[in-house]
Amino acid sequence: MVQRTLAILKPDCVRKNLIGKVIKRFEAEGFKIIGMKLVKLDSNTAGEFYAVHKDKPFFYDLVSFMSSGPCVPMVLEKENAIEDYRKVIGATDPGKADEGTIRKMYADSKEQNMVHGSDAPDTAEYEIKYFFSSKELVENMG
Ligand code: ATP
Ligand code: MG
Repeated sequence: MVQRTLAILKPDCVRKNLIGKVIKRFEAEGFKIIGMKLVKLDSNTAGEFYAVHKDKPFFYDLVSFMSSGPCVPMVLEKENAIEDYRKVIGATDPGKADEGTIRKMYADSKEQNMVHGSDAPDTAEYEIKYFFSSKELVENMG
């Protein structure tokens, strides 16, 4: 089934000038970009986006990090996109991520781990709407 997932190139990815390399990898893995923007989140927006983690000890640091510089939210489309994307990015902790995954290759820590990815169809739908209106998504890539 063709699916959509919400990806974010996090502020560490942008700071390291790795936007192009990561997008190149997504394209090579067969994902089509159907929406993309560059935004600097304020702490309220970052906190709302990661509200599911609001009681975790790392929440404050996560929100500070996610609002520390611009990031690149994008919507990716592909057969089985949600699961396949999570395989390409690897485990949350780069120290535990498989060889060749984006987090293993480029991430510095469990917090500053380069990329976000939706973890299920319902969260993907919510997260895509969080960043993109339907007008901002390309329906037919041609
Ligand atoms: P994401 O939701 O960003 O794709 P994930 O699904 O792999 O990441 P989550 O458990 O949803 O991992 O955590 C969200 C984010 O919070 C992580 O990507 C990371 O930036 C940060 N984070 C998670 N666990 C920790 C931790 N123990 N210490 C510091 N930061 C953490
Ligand atoms: Mg998550």
